[in-house]
Amino acid sequence: MSSQGVDYYKKAAARAMEWHAGNIKKMKQCRFDTIAVHGIYSMQEALDFNQGSIIEPVYMSSSQTFRDSDEMEAALGYEIPTWCYARIANPSIYYMEGVLALLESYGAGVDASCVATASGMAAIQSAVDQFLVEDPKRPNAPMNFVATTQVYGGTFQQFAIRKEQERNIEWRRVVNSTDMNEWESQIDENTRFLYGEMPSNPSQAFFDVKKIVDLAHKYGIPAIFDSTVATPALLRPLEYGADIVVQSVTKSLFTSGFGIAGAVIAKKNLTTNIDNPEMKADFCAYLKQLPNRDNGPNLSPMNAILALNDIRTIRHRMDIASRSTMTIANFLKQHKHIEGVDYLGLQEHHLHELASDYMYLVDAEHDEQYGSPQNRYGHLMSFRIKGDAQNTRNVFDALQRIWRATDLGRIKSVATIPAISTHSQQGEEGRKLANIPPNLIRLCVGLEHPDDIIADLDQALGVLDGNKVSMTFPEFSAGGASSATLKR
Ligand SMILES: *Cc1c(COP(=O)(O)O)cnc(C)c1O
Repeated sequence: MSSQGVDYYKKAAARAMEWHAGNIKKMKQCRFDTIAVHGIYSMQEALDFNQGSIIEPVYMSSSQTFRDSDEMEAALGYEIPTWCYARIANPSIYYMEGVLALLESYGAGVDASCVATASGMAAIQSAVDQFLVEDPKRPNAPMNFVATTQVYGGTFQQFAIRKEQERNIEWRRVVNSTDMNEWESQIDENTRFLYGEMPSNPSQAFFDVKKIVDLAHKYGIPAIFDSTVATPALLRPLEYGADIVVQSVTKSLFTSGFGIAGAVIAKKNLTTNIDNPEMKADFCAYLKQLPNRDNGPNLSPMNAILALNDIRTIRHRMDIASRSTMTIANFLKQHKHIEGVDYLGLQEHHLHELASDYMYLVDAEHDEQYGSPQNRYGHLMSFRIKGDAQNTRNVFDALQRIWRATDLGRIKSVATIPAISTHSQQGEEGRKLANIPPNLIRLCVGLEHPDDIIADLDQALGVLDGNKVSMTFPEFSAGGASSATLKR
């Protein structure tokens, strides 16, 4: 067999990439739901490559074979698109990345790309670590980043322990994230990025996204946001000029709870003071081909397809869950055993107005049912029980329909006490900074009928009036090892 030559493959790849770009351009004309449902997988692709399969196939394969040495050389040199090895790329993962890039950049008027990771924490690490490198122009200069303290517990640990304690990279903490002076006063020439989570988990801190973006760009650094709680159905930071969005795909996007996944979505040509043109031009392509290839935080193809399947319905789910959460928040706030309810959707929440500027159900104005913009505040809320921490535990332990789990975004309602779970490791001081008192219960509302969730909360709160809740659980759940039961 005579050699085709590397150029032959490069030309063929250029034609294929042009076709893909055209297909993505067509998808960009569609509404959010259509993009969520179809993603970047087209009929043409199904018929040409996938036996007509209407659902994106799961390529459960570690690697790809090549026609000849020329194709292999072109692929490994990244001269043609390839899934040479699934740590770097894989078609199933590519479908998930494609849809998330389109959804996060929906209506933003920018081109974005996405790289999937094995978890939300890996997405955060992948997103921020690329900026925490030495500036060759200023060797040995200290590095810092400016980030809100009201962040997910895992993020708090990654920043406080892995960056600050272990690597001596200063985390300049923003405690009141609506105070723009506090943000700005922390920035200096060694600041590498601004980072914020909104609405934050669990305290629902919220800040002015656009102002933070403008501030970052004034200093030539990127604005990075964890937008997990909002999801692209309710808020898309790229629309306000953000450089990078991280998602714990695990949560609302991957609502069925089959697994863990994360994603970094970045606009092309982002702002940075790091001299790395390749990274600046297409952050996610760079991340995928180089740092993540070397560090290996990558997603499995099976999880990519399972997540992809849930992503199709994200807009409808966030709409229904937001409405139910509002109903439940209104029930709780008038309950005699409740000290307070924190939900951005409640008018009395001190950040309600600010959140109302940003949190909208995407495309509600094109929806026959609504026909105009509709604020939606998501399905994460928290409430504080009157009395001491034990009261809170008693109510929590009496829940019978709402699952006790350190999870959120599930199709089933789940609740946790953050002080003893998601936010236990950061200590009392850290919890104070993150605004997490011991009597706080975080509730993430699922797609059950809200009446049934209210009924469960009502009976659980009844234990504070002396009502007895009788539940029996097997002592060991593994394999029915014991028939002994716990009475409470
Ligand atoms: C859960 C969560 C993370 C971490 O994601 P994993 O997928 O669990 O690694 C990050 N940020 C927020 C807001 C989260 O809720």
